[in-house]
Amino acid sequence: MRVLIILLCFFYSCGQQKSINQRSEKMYEKMRLSMVEDQIERRGVKDDRVLHAMREVPRHEFVPNHLKKYAYADEPLPIGEDQTISQPYIVAYMTEYLRLGEEDIVLEIGTGSGYQAAVLAEIADTVYTIEIVDVLAKRAEKTLERLGYENVLVKRGDGYAGWPEHAPYDAIIITAAPTKIPQPLLEQLKIGGFMILPLGDYSQELVLIEKNIKGFEQKRLLPVRFVPMTGEIAE
Ligand code: SAH
Repeated sequence: MRVLIILLCFFYSCGQQKSINQRSEKMYEKMRLSMVEDQIERRGVKDDRVLHAMREVPRHEFVPNHLKKYAYADEPLPIGEDQTISQPYIVAYMTEYLRLGEEDIVLEIGTGSGYQAAVLAEIADTVYTIEIVDVLAKRAEKTLERLGYENVLVKRGDGYAGWPEHAPYDAIIITAAPTKIPQPLLEQLKIGGFMILPLGDYSQELVLIEKNIKGFEQKRLLPVRFVPMTGEIAE
């Protein structure tokens, strides 16, 4: 009899916890849909695939527990190790400029929390992402695995050298700011492909590079503030 009561209590409390979790997931989803409408569509991002990805990826799963309630706010957030997850609008803006298709292979430098990689993975075929800080690389890999992003591969290392084994890439995105464009990454971009990065030190600009048969075309997009790219480029 006692065993039966204990079992009943256990199943009851499991049920309670499940319904609390379901309620908070619903709340996060509502916040996420408002974020896409108010911060992203309203500012001019139009690509349906990007908007869909931003509605799908649970951003609250990529931030530290005590910041979950701010996960859908219009700002970057700290993720530990002096690094940040970018403002949602900037993630969507940079993704749109890459003009991704569903068969594309993408390289990201600066995995951080793994959030940008997840957004890319919703649209493209495969995302290779490199993170220089060991604990962040490990944490991001775990988060992405837990959420089922099987098409993201995380590597710990200096993204300066890219990931030549899987090159050339249809698109490359750098999410930490180098003071000059890493040459190996230009080489690993496909002809017809786009690369986007924040360029500069104190004053940075988002730069879009298109690789074509004649060489590279460069366009300055908007002033931004990213954490610096470290490793070989900063030496
Ligand atoms: N894209 C991330 C945010 C990037 S923050 C997200 O969605 O959460 C920038 C990240 O770039 C930091 O985690 C930092 O450690 C990493 N980084 C800086 N220099 C790097 C380098 N040379 N190679 C790889 N990662 C680098």
